[in-house]
Amino acid sequence: MGIAENLGKILSEIPSGVRLVAVSKFHPAEAVMEAYDAGQRIFGESRVQELLAKEPVLPADIQWHFIGHLQTNKVRQLVGHASLIESVDSERLLDLIDKESEKAGVVSRVLMQVHVAREETKFGFYPEELLEYFSSRRFENLKATHICGIMGMASNTDDITRVRADFKAIADVFHAVADDGDLGLRGFDILSMGMSGDWRIAVEEDANLIRIGTAIFGQRDY
Ligand SMILES: *Cc1c(COP(=O)(O)O)cnc(C)c1O
Repeated sequence: MGIAENLGKILSEIPSGVRLVAVSKFHPAEAVMEAYDAGQRIFGESRVQELLAKEPVLPADIQWHFIGHLQTNKVRQLVGHASLIESVDSERLLDLIDKESEKAGVVSRVLMQVHVAREETKFGFYPEELLEYFSSRRFENLKATHICGIMGMASNTDDITRVRADFKAIADVFHAVADDGDLGLRGFDILSMGMSGDWRIAVEEDANLIRIGTAIFGQRDY
């Protein structure tokens, strides 16, 4: 099946209220254009250089999401080019994004990445770290960054019980923060979880943003 057909099939299956990030990392601009022509507007990239190379050769109304581990020495280049940085995995990185966004005169929208999976992803805040970050209200110091929600990944395993438990744990952190009226957070409403192999379970566990690469574009050549 082609890209447009894969995309159409997924879009027909996802409930309304769930948005799709087409993860185009390691796929050429032509593949992005095929998905764009089929109506897709949100694309995900995991490397700053690749995002910056694709952006100028593709339509300007594409929303680029950054979903990979962001090295601190790449923050300045990325700021202003991603409509959402989904993978903020440390407070140091968050503060740097804020500083560079302020300098550049832009507001960056970000998600905080939660680490719950067993060994698979080594990046992200532990749930208790993230809850402490919010209850301490340190987010109030941010000048040019808007925290829009939470991103997470489940363990890379065929054990569906494990995957569901991971998504539940990520969703618990999201709801604990989003439903805490005392924090006074506005626009904290994105729960990004689910990839090609596990997005159906993620949606059942409340995800409203899913990130799918392989099931749209096929296998990646690394
Ligand atoms: C690559 C990647 C995806 C997409 O994975 P697929 O299995 O190809 O759908 C989703 N999220 C993140 C953070 C990724 O790095």
